[in-house]
Amino acid sequence: MSSRTTGASVDNATLGSGHTSPPLTRAAALARLQDFAPRAGMEYARLRNLDMGPGRHKHVSSLSPALRRRLISEREVVSAVVSEHGPGASDKFISEVFWRTYWKGWLEQRPSVWTGYLKALAHEKQRLNHDSGRMTRFSQAANGRSGIDCFDAWATELQETGYLHNWARMQFSSIWIFTLGLPWELGAAHMFAHLVDADPAANTLSWRWVAGLHTKGKAYLADGERIRAMTQGRFSPQGLARRALLPAESIDIPAPSTPRPAALPKKGVSSLLLLTAEDLSLETLPQIDSLSIDAIALLPGDSEADGIALADALARARQKWPDAQVLGAFGAHELRSARDLRCRQIVTGFAPVGPIADRLIALRVDAEREGLPLTEHQRVWDVEAWPYCRKGFFTLKEKIPMLMSLSGDQR
Ligand SMILES: Cc1cc2nc3c(=O)[nH]c(=O)nc-3n(C[C@H](O)[C@H](O)[C@H](O)COP(=O)(O)OP(=O)(O)OC[C@H]3O[C@@H](n4cnc5c(N)ncnc54)[C@H](O)[C@@H]3O)c2cc1C
Repeated sequence: MSSRTTGASVDNATLGSGHTSPPLTRAAALARLQDFAPRAGMEYARLRNLDMGPGRHKHVSSLSPALRRRLISEREVVSAVVSEHGPGASDKFISEVFWRTYWKGWLEQRPSVWTGYLKALAHEKQRLNHDSGRMTRFSQAANGRSGIDCFDAWATELQETGYLHNWARMQFSSIWIFTLGLPWELGAAHMFAHLVDADPAANTLSWRWVAGLHTKGKAYLADGERIRAMTQGRFSPQGLARRALLPAESIDIPAPSTPRPAALPKKGVSSLLLLTAEDLSLETLPQIDSLSIDAIALLPGDSEADGIALADALARARQKWPDAQVLGAFGAHELRSARDLRCRQIVTGFAPVGPIADRLIALRVDAEREGLPLTEHQRVWDVEAWPYCRKGFFTLKEKIPMLMSLSGDQR
């Protein structure tokens, strides 16, 4: 069942070591970080690629549902880990967190890759409807009936828990593309629909990376023997593709553009705070604290997981600004209420390329028509790191010590 549409699996999802649910509140994320930080040093570097199976992912943090929505920030997570282990022993974990930053910054500077993906996906869905053989293969793969033991177990885990270990995601996507011969766009959309941490940048670009569309001449090929080893003998897949078919045409990577400029919030102006699933700990930031927040509204999410996280963020915002009027889910009526309350701007967290940014485009037009500019707070973390996310990951990786040393608690 899709966690995107119904989220029915969210409450019962089994994640992490002894954790029974994904961290979808700030308190749960902070508790998860505290629990995991002691294991984020050398132990993480050594064991992080072992896939222990559903409910036993104790060598990784399972923090992604919280990081994706910024219930907790990248800065908070890496700071906690560095203070536990020092910078050297935390290297591997920190660099994984920066992979998230890299994908976000890379897509932000190539928005046409997102729109191109959506277009190709629509085309692939149409092709499915006209080809019953293809539809059968797609449905068997999506529902864990391909006949490949590891793949079917991961398809089931994805549907039942909304989570897959990173290494399993790599094997799953590789088998989907190169062994089952299915379009990567359909696989990416299927995963996106079920992951509790579904992220337009990390998901789409990881699938492209596996498919050989990110780095010239490089694709990721799953290997049966390695799968047996990394799953400690749980699986022994047969008949996997022995060759990754690289895209026939030379890969078309658009040149990076300047990130979309955001209208920044003004100080001393009565403001409506709009909460979206892109940034759900705005109340912790000094720049937001210094604004005059007189009303609070939220942009409803499109999964039950988003709903839980948004409700938590709303409760924290109400505590922070007890005198602000809570307007609820944002729409035309709330826009007029904000204007009646004499709000002069809408303040929200920056929405990087993806469905939420797409929804904000229409909302921005409506808001401006009512005389309320929609302004976005950009985290210093992104502003500083994204200029290094224009080429390969190594360019960013080299800058990690410098980025980590920059002072500031406003991230
Ligand atoms: C095909 C495919 C699809 C993916 N789809 C998503 C997605 O939709 N959303 C998402 O957040 N991640 C995605 N990832 C990246 C990665 O698999 C998850 O972030 C990670 O498995 C989350 O588990 P964790 O929190 O236990 O990670 P940990 O190993 O504990 O890492 C800590 C944090 O670092 C970040 N991180 C770790 N590895 C990566 C990575 N390879 N890329 C980007 N960020 C990383 C995550 O925010 C994660 O929470 C995808 C990877 C692949 C190969």
